[in-house]
Amino acid sequence: MEMTPQQLEMLQGELRGLKDRSAFYAKKFEGIDVADVASQADFEKLPFSEKDDLRAAYPLGLQAVPDDEVVRIHSSSGTTGTPVIIPYTQKDVDDWAIQFARCYEMAGITRLDRIQITPGYGLWTAGIGFQLGAERLGAMAIPMGPGNTDKQLKMMEDLGSTVLGATSSYALLLAEEIQQRGIRDRLKLRKGVIGSERWGEKMRLRIQSELGIQIYDIYGLTEVYGPGIGISCDEHAGMHVWSDYVYMEIIDPETGEVLPDGEQGELVLTTLQKQGAPLIRYRTHDLTRIIPGQCACGCPHPRIDTLVGRTDDMFKVKGCNMFPAQVEEVIKITDGASSEYQVMIENISGKDVLTVLFETPLEGEEKARCELELATIFKAKLGCTPDAKGVPMGELPRSEKKTKRIFDSRY
Ligand SMILES: [Zn+2]
Repeated sequence: MEMTPQQLEMLQGELRGLKDRSAFYAKKFEGIDVADVASQADFEKLPFSEKDDLRAAYPLGLQAVPDDEVVRIHSSSGTTGTPVIIPYTQKDVDDWAIQFARCYEMAGITRLDRIQITPGYGLWTAGIGFQLGAERLGAMAIPMGPGNTDKQLKMMEDLGSTVLGATSSYALLLAEEIQQRGIRDRLKLRKGVIGSERWGEKMRLRIQSELGIQIYDIYGLTEVYGPGIGISCDEHAGMHVWSDYVYMEIIDPETGEVLPDGEQGELVLTTLQKQGAPLIRYRTHDLTRIIPGQCACGCPHPRIDTLVGRTDDMFKVKGCNMFPAQVEEVIKITDGASSEYQVMIENISGKDVLTVLFETPLEGEEKARCELELATIFKAKLGCTPDAKGVPMGELPRSEKKTKRIFDSRY
């Protein structure tokens, strides 16, 4: 992604005096004079920040302003130990509201809409972000929070909610309830703003068709404001990310090298205006790509593609980086392949051998045709040719929990 002169200028503002204001950056940029950052190339030499660095700064080590400027904190989920605490100034809160309001506008939502907000409120940024944006826009916020489906549906009907803000799983649950109860006709829902999880096309289509609403994907993470730093538009071709607040890079997750637009890798974000806790080159571990060129909708802000997974899930074979979601995609579009599959990676006399086992009802020549098709699609999408082997339906193991599908016996 080429850094614009405006972005460079904002970045220089963000870096100015940062080492004096923040012990975190004083340490991270030890030996680096950030006043020397005069170009994109200089910027790309700065070290990355990792979630673990942020965790190590617990509780308030990331704070880069005096105490009297902090108006709130948020925290990212601490499912694995220490949470990350992000302090916000009033400007940070306002900027977040501006970005989220833009998201609503992008989705065609207006002051006349009534937005039923079902993500949780509290330390994390979900519900409160939807709320901030709604108020900034001037729409009516209905701050439900999660759960209590009976009450959700009653309010939805009685108040005539027109927009649903939800996670994909909760949106699906509501969609199914609405269909089961046969109350769709009594509702005024017309749009859904769905955030914070990676989710498949199939699920989107189900929510969309069951509710008969248009769905927009919202992007964001607590470390960088929260949800609302980007959203999909009416073209539904990736998510626009607000480039006056956030600078994006895609890197090779293994080498850290910056990749050209269009190539898939790890999304790295830099805040351009954040005060409470600026983030410089923050590794999100989200896998996506920057979609080259301008969107047909006319919006000048750059786009990222649907997230394909996390870098932690990545595996490397014959020099190609691969992700389970990509393999799933290959299985999905191969005619005759069923949904169950396994990937085996072995090292046989010094060479990587990649085998894809997949269930298929086909036999004989038809099965051979299907194997060849799978291998061809795999090569086209992931860059190397596997040994594709169709097995009878029901032959691969199932598990109640998440089924393990990638078996790497090389290490
Ligand atoms: Zn667009």
